[in-house]
Amino acid sequence: MQTYHVLIIGSGFGGQCAAVNLLKAGIEDFRILERRDFFGGTWCQNTYPGAAVDVPSPLYSLSFAPYPWTRLFAEQAELHRYTQHVADRYQLRDKVQLQALVERVEWDDEQRHWRVYTASQGTFCAAFLINASGPLSQPLVPSFEGLQRFAGRQFHSNAWDHAYDYRDKRVAIVGSGASAAQIIPALAPDVAHLHVFQRTPHWVLPRADRRFGRFQRWLLGIKPAYTLLRWLIYWQFESRVIAFKYSRIALKLVQQKALKHLKQQVPDEHLRQTLTPDFTFGCKRVILSSTLYPALSRDNVSVHGREQGITSLDETGINTVDGQHIDLDLIVWATGYDATDGAIPYPVRGKGGALLADAWAHYPRAYLGTSLPGFPNLFMILGPNTGIGHTSALFIIESQMNYILGCLRTLKAQALRSIEVRQEAESAYTRMIHQQMQRTVWKSGGCHSWYQSRSGHVIALFPGFSFSYYQLTRRVKLADHILS
Ligand SMILES: Cc1cc2nc3c(=O)[nH]c(=O)nc-3n(C[C@H](O)[C@H](O)[C@H](O)COP(=O)(O)OP(=O)(O)OC[C@H]3O[C@@H](n4cnc5c(N)ncnc54)[C@H](O)[C@@H]3O)c2cc1C
Repeated sequence: MQTYHVLIIGSGFGGQCAAVNLLKAGIEDFRILERRDFFGGTWCQNTYPGAAVDVPSPLYSLSFAPYPWTRLFAEQAELHRYTQHVADRYQLRDKVQLQALVERVEWDDEQRHWRVYTASQGTFCAAFLINASGPLSQPLVPSFEGLQRFAGRQFHSNAWDHAYDYRDKRVAIVGSGASAAQIIPALAPDVAHLHVFQRTPHWVLPRADRRFGRFQRWLLGIKPAYTLLRWLIYWQFESRVIAFKYSRIALKLVQQKALKHLKQQVPDEHLRQTLTPDFTFGCKRVILSSTLYPALSRDNVSVHGREQGITSLDETGINTVDGQHIDLDLIVWATGYDATDGAIPYPVRGKGGALLADAWAHYPRAYLGTSLPGFPNLFMILGPNTGIGHTSALFIIESQMNYILGCLRTLKAQALRSIEVRQEAESAYTRMIHQQMQRTVWKSGGCHSWYQSRSGHVIALFPGFSFSYYQLTRRVKLADHILS
C-alpha cells in the first residue's frame, strides 16, 4: 500500500491547480493519480480538428501561471503546451502516477484515512482525497439500435482517431453543441459530404478571435499586465450573468444579436429556420463561432433536424425518421458528456460504508460543490453546481482551492485529523442553490440541456456571479463543519 498525506485524482487543470496550491502551502507529500498514459486532462484528450477554448485564454489560464498566448481564444495545441508548461514550471511530473485508473475509494473509519483502489497500480491510501476527475471527461454515446453493426469507422469527439483520413469521405457528425460547432467548420471543406444531425439548434454569437502581436505577447509575459488584462476580461464576461439571471430585457437584446448573426450568415430561409432555436437565449451553452454558419451553408453539408433524426444504424450508415438511408464512411459522436449524474465516475464509500450513489440517488449535491456530510476529508473539484456557463472554469477551481486549503490549514493549526461538513449546512446550501436557480434562464428558458440531471435539477452550473462563489469559498465557516 502506498501512503501519502493527500491524493489527487486527475491531472487536468483541477489536479494541476490542487497540486501547485499544495506545494505553495508547503505540502509535498501528495500524489496525482491519472488514468491516462499522459498528463494534462481536457486539452490533451480532446484533439479533434478545430478544438479551441471559448473563453479568452488570458482568463482561461491559472492566475499564478501567466503565459504569452499567441491568440485570444487558444487552440488545443497551445492549451496542451500550456499544460506541459505548468507541469514543468512546478515540477509536477514526478508527482504523477500515470495509467492509474481509480476504480473505487473507501473511507476507513478506524484508521481515518481514504483507501484508493486502482485497476493496475495497486492500492493507495491518504488522509485527504481531492477528486479532480473532470466534469466533462466521461463521454456519452446514445444507444441507437445497430450501433455496433456499422461497418465504417466511428468515434467520439473526445477520442479522435488521427490515423483515420477523413478527406473525401462521407461523414456524419451527430450533435450540435460546442464540440460539433468547432468540428464542422474544420471538416466541411475536406470531406465529400458532411451530414450534421442536430436534435436542437443552439444560439450562436460571433467569435471575436484575434492573434496577439509580438509586443502584446511580451506584455502577457509580465505578471501585472497579465493580471490587468485578466481582470478586464473577467468583468466583461461576468456581466453576462445579468442577462442570464436578472434582466429579461438584456437577454432579449443578446438574442436579437444572435438572430442578426444568423440572418447575416445564412441566406437560405429554410436552413435559417432549421437553425433557429425554440428556447430562450442562454438556456443551453451559447456557441461562439463566426465559421459555423458558413460551413453549414456549404453545398456539401446537409443539416438534419429532429424530423430527420436518427432511428437506427446498419452496416452502411444511418436510417432516419423520414425514411432515408444515408451511406457513410465515418460517424463522429459529438454527443457530449455525463456532466451531472456521473460527477464522480467511480464508487465512493464514506463513513460506515455509506455509498455516495445513495446520497445522490435524487440528484448530485455538495456543500460549495466541494464537500459532503458523511464523507470526511474528501473534496471535489468542479463538483455539483460549480460549473460556469459565462466565464472560465479555472476561476472556480482556484476558488475551491481557497476553501480546501483553508480546511487543511485549520486542521493543522488545531492538531486535528478530519473535517466533515454538517448535514444541516449542506442541506441549507443546496436549498439556496436551487432557489437561486429558479430565476435563471438555465432553469426557466424552455430547454432540456446537459446542465440538467435526470431529475430535471440544474446541476452543472452555479446560479450566479462567479465572484459570489469566490466570496463563499474565501473562508472556512467552522460552524458548518465537524472537526475531530
Ligand atoms: C472540448 C471541451 C472544451 C471545453 N471548453 C471550455 C471552455 O472554453 N471554457 C471553460 O471554462 N471550460 C471548458 N471546458 C471544461 C473543462 O473541462 C474545464 O475547463 C477544465 O479543463 C476541467 O479541468 P479538470 O481538471 O476538472 O478536468 P479534466 O481536464 O477533464 O481532467 C480530469 C482528469 O481526470 C482523469 N480521470 C477521470 N477519471 C479518472 C479515474 N477514475 N481515475 C484516474 N483518473 C481519472 C481524466 O483522465 C483527466 O485527465 C471544456 C471541456 C471540453 C471537454
